[in-house]
Amino acid sequence: MITLDVVVEICDLTHIYVTEQRASLAVKEINLTVRSGEFVSLIGPSGCGKTTLLSLIAGLIHPTVGKVKVNGSLVTGPSVKVGYMLQQDYLFPWRTIWENALVGLEISGQLNQASKNYVEHLLNEMGLLKFKDFMPSQLSGGMRQRVALVRTMATEPDLLLLDEPFSALDYQTKLQLEDLMVETLLTHHKTALLVTHDIAEAIAMSDRIVILEPNPGTVRCEVETPEELRNLLPLEAREHPAFTPLFKSVWEQFEAMEKQKGVASGHGGV
Ligand code: ADP
Ligand code: MG
Repeated sequence: MITLDVVVEICDLTHIYVTEQRASLAVKEINLTVRSGEFVSLIGPSGCGKTTLLSLIAGLIHPTVGKVKVNGSLVTGPSVKVGYMLQQDYLFPWRTIWENALVGLEISGQLNQASKNYVEHLLNEMGLLKFKDFMPSQLSGGMRQRVALVRTMATEPDLLLLDEPFSALDYQTKLQLEDLMVETLLTHHKTALLVTHDIAEAIAMSDRIVILEPNPGTVRCEVETPEELRNLLPLEAREHPAFTPLFKSVWEQFEAMEKQKGVASGHGGV
């Protein structure tokens, strides 16, 4: 197998959370590959192990069985080569936008004139430069998430892990940010793994969609986004005739999961 351009390689990954009371199987025997420059979405019902998978790739938790490789190296802990962006922006309220954008660089000891110039460039790209001396409380939710994206990109990670980064935003802001995110990742040739429970968002943004099913979390199927959608920005993709049939087929997968759940719990479903 040619692994040169593989950024993420997940082999037979199983994770069991062990607490004092119980052990719970969160994800089971996951196999997944993400190639360089790909935008892949992970979707599935709540509790199917999406966040667990990202935490394993980020090296924040260690797998019970199996392995995760990023850029060919076994993940043993967090790395500056992997950026993580969450639903909440976690900006420090006492720091300005500029100071917040530099946090990752400070922590990883990469703060220098070149990296500061890069942050300035990113802030400018995202229409934030004129707000650099503002405090986070003076910015809207969408602007704050843009700052969080700059902070994540500042350390120049090869891989971005995005855990429902738009789900706390209003619909219009979310659509604008989807476009900005895709444009930015394309410009900077980044590889991304997005967790979302929004089927439309997954289709509009990604090259490939991995559908997970719960109890325990496993890969149900993978869906390639057709070429004509892949080449469009999310807003345009949503308008394309190929969008609705794909939405329908992913939706059917979700419906089938609901039915299975109904059968497993003794209900007939709706
Ligand atoms: P998702 O992000 O898809 O909603 P999660 O990865 O958060 O799913 O959770 C997967 C499963 O693992 C769930 O059953 C959840 O209750 C369990 N789980 C998640 N985090 C922990 C934890 N820290 N300790 C114990 N169980 C957990
Ligand atoms: Mg989650």
